[in-house]
Amino acid sequence: MDYQGFNAYEKSIIKASTGSYTVFMAKEADGDYLVVIGENPGLEGEKLPGEVTKAPLNHRNAETLRKLFPFTAPSRVLGKERSFGLGDRLGIATPGHAELFEKYDAYPVFAQQSIRELNLTNRTYEDVLDAASFAVFREGFKKSWGADGDHLKTAKDVEYALSLGFTMITLDCSEHIKNDVTDENAPALPQQYADKYLGENFDIGEGLRLSFDETELRRIVAIYEKAILFAVDIYKQFFADGKYQADFEISIDETLTPTSPLQHFFVARELIDAGVVFATLAPRFCGEFQKGVDYVGDLVQFEKEINAHAIIVRYFSATHFKYKLSIHSGSDKFAVFPLVSKATKSIFHVKTAGTNWLEAMRVVAMTDPSLYREVHKYALEAFEEASKYYIVTTDLSKIPSVDNLSDAELPGLFENNDSRQLIHITYGLILNKKNSDGAFSFKDKLYKLWRDHDGEYIQALKKHIGRHLDLLGVKGS
Ligand code: ZN
Repeated sequence: MDYQGFNAYEKSIIKASTGSYTVFMAKEADGDYLVVIGENPGLEGEKLPGEVTKAPLNHRNAETLRKLFPFTAPSRVLGKERSFGLGDRLGIATPGHAELFEKYDAYPVFAQQSIRELNLTNRTYEDVLDAASFAVFREGFKKSWGADGDHLKTAKDVEYALSLGFTMITLDCSEHIKNDVTDENAPALPQQYADKYLGENFDIGEGLRLSFDETELRRIVAIYEKAILFAVDIYKQFFADGKYQADFEISIDETLTPTSPLQHFFVARELIDAGVVFATLAPRFCGEFQKGVDYVGDLVQFEKEINAHAIIVRYFSATHFKYKLSIHSGSDKFAVFPLVSKATKSIFHVKTAGTNWLEAMRVVAMTDPSLYREVHKYALEAFEEASKYYIVTTDLSKIPSVDNLSDAELPGLFENNDSRQLIHITYGLILNKKNSDGAFSFKDKLYKLWRDHDGEYIQALKKHIGRHLDLLGVKGS
């Protein structure tokens, strides 16, 4: 809308209660910026005639904005019954997410990025957080939202995210989980565990009873002991003394084998007994949670196991402190969402990431067919390299050639699982591809397109993520 001669985002306009200034976000051809009319409350920028300041969207101004308007700063949301992680690799998805979560009874984690994703997109945690804060300001989003330092593996990375004000840490314990332990090669069982667990029939409630036999316990201790020690150590360094106010998620999902309910019980019990307070625990569920496509596996088995996991969560939540199940790689897992909702009694954290990127690429296919074809062809070349980092079963032969598809047929590629995975996993290579002159082959063109088609991207995200929330049984208005 036109506001005092600027192309303002209407929902961003804030008049200070003192009446001394008005601040809003405005759009110009070359980018967005903040405008202050009246007495500048501390944003750095260019002074224009008539007590007007034009302030760029940089890190300093993001920090000032978070102080001036606390709704633009993240807060802890894992304690809410329903929370939802939304990795925004491109830094442009939050306006669509914000419009959606205004209407749903769930709390978003707008900023959620792993170190690997930062590296692949040449971003920093400062960028990730600032992009979310600016978008929240632009949309006038007043509900609580979180920022997740996702899948962090070292104390250094944890400290980096916490020091910037991230409100959630997902500790990835996978490098300390010994997957290759078998009944045969597991070391002897330490006596302390035998005393604690053997010969007991744990009554978890709701008809669930758990007991360990010696072989199984020996194996579980060997698999998880180091991971538990690692989590305890991180907790003591950063959380125990209240140094940082953030939620702690324990992630044991990036392993080769599913986390059995018995293993979940053991890990939670040991963490609790070591004094660790955590907000969420992410087990690896049975079946396959491949990137960008629906669940692959036995739904009956999945339901049985998630029920047991949820009962264990309720048991410890009643006896110690509340925590929730966290479901990772939740993008597009439509078949399991009703089961997740039912088993957890609608108390969960679900993470999605790459699907927001796929929706951005769907917009490219819809609005610039020739650019889409170029990117798609490059993705086919880059697939082999990208597939080293992901577990996918993509069959490239099932993807129709983009030269044989009409322009109108291109968006249909995003209904094809193989094509989805192709684009899903090659994002880093696509964004980083350079021409011989050193210029980006696609990145700048893509960002310009997404900027020009902001409205289409918002609609695509609302529809796609909205489908996730609907199937999870989240109430919308
Ligand atoms: Zn994970």
